[in-house]
Amino acid sequence: MKIDNCFFLLPEHRVGRGDIVIEGGRIVSIEERDCEPDRLVMPGLVNCHGHTAMTLVRGLGGGLPLKRWLEEAIFPVEAKMTPRDVRAGAAWGIMEMLAGGTTCVADMYDFPEEMGAALLESGMKGRICRVGLSFVEGRLADCIESTRAWNGHVARNDVRFDLCIHSEYLTDKAFCRALADANRELKRPLHVHVSETRKEHEECIARHGKTPIEYIADTGLFDNGGYAAHCVWCTDDDFRIMAERGVSLVHNPTSNMKLGSGFARIPRAMELGVNVALGTDGCASNDNLDMFEEMHIASLVHKGLACDPTVLPAWEVIDMATRNGAKALGLKDTGEIAVGFAADLCVVDMNRMHLAPAIDIPNLVVNSMGADDVAMTIVGGRVVYEKGSVNGGFGGWAAAASARKELLAAVGRLGL
Ligand SMILES: [Zn+2]
Repeated sequence: MKIDNCFFLLPEHRVGRGDIVIEGGRIVSIEERDCEPDRLVMPGLVNCHGHTAMTLVRGLGGGLPLKRWLEEAIFPVEAKMTPRDVRAGAAWGIMEMLAGGTTCVADMYDFPEEMGAALLESGMKGRICRVGLSFVEGRLADCIESTRAWNGHVARNDVRFDLCIHSEYLTDKAFCRALADANRELKRPLHVHVSETRKEHEECIARHGKTPIEYIADTGLFDNGGYAAHCVWCTDDDFRIMAERGVSLVHNPTSNMKLGSGFARIPRAMELGVNVALGTDGCASNDNLDMFEEMHIASLVHKGLACDPTVLPAWEVIDMATRNGAKALGLKDTGEIAVGFAADLCVVDMNRMHLAPAIDIPNLVVNSMGADDVAMTIVGGRVVYEKGSVNGGFGGWAAAASARKELLAAVGRLGL
């Protein structure tokens, strides 16, 4: 397969133009030549924190504070969800992400095998996990067993099962220690919510005399690295621990603003050596899975907060959504347009009014582009989404044809 006559974003922060050749799922050559491109090829976007099946509750409970939003709007509906409901919401969210150029997602939700199966069918890469919660009977054994069982199958290599606790406040110390012990053999990174609200951060200090990052690190749960969502109230010492332990920070600026949680200190985290990636979070707190919008908002927020337009240059924000994400999730040889790397790519149609003239392409990517500009998404050299395609656009993924019907049926069953 050859993508000819295109602009491309190169790892050394340079825009090239010419042709990209893909063979055996990998980029085998990048031929630069003079041409007039009408497409941009960029590394596939990596969404490092989401609850994909929350498409089922898109926008539910808008305007409520976090605790009430969870307890009054979200948890009662989630308690009713069956594996079939989660499968329907997961498929719909995967379609939304593929149509927006996302090639990999780290998901945290109930019935993770449903998400895993939908990912494998769709061709998208991913990380799934069983949510660690102390108050659910038998959950600890479930977390350990399901991680071991899923990762034992080579055919599931593009979708790995990671370790997870929901958060410090929904797990007790014995649970964390036991999971960390089991992880000496499982050797997976930890997916976790950290210091999302000031209240959560301060209550953890009151309970344990430590911040959530210090506490989790002490339990051993970061011994194989990890990726921590939010980190809004993290201290400089927290950032130092994260940098040292190989724990990535997943920035979710839209969700943090919608729920009134605050602003993560991203420039400071980067200064202290933390790998910063981006995530949309679930689409009840966003309310879409558009990684272009996430880049745009991340870029604007930190410039505004610092009263400094030089903060987070466009290339750095693109790295957050691509190669930093790949690094956070331990994806090998992806996240960059380079020979030998996996062909996980997003192709953008440049023939859009808001994308002309193409004077400064990285700036266009961060400030002007949206999910709707994506013409094609490629994962491992396979076209998994093509806009306007007669077969529905999702590369022969059969479930995509009935996904809307399934979604609406699930929403009906949940009484929404
Ligand atoms: Zn979340």
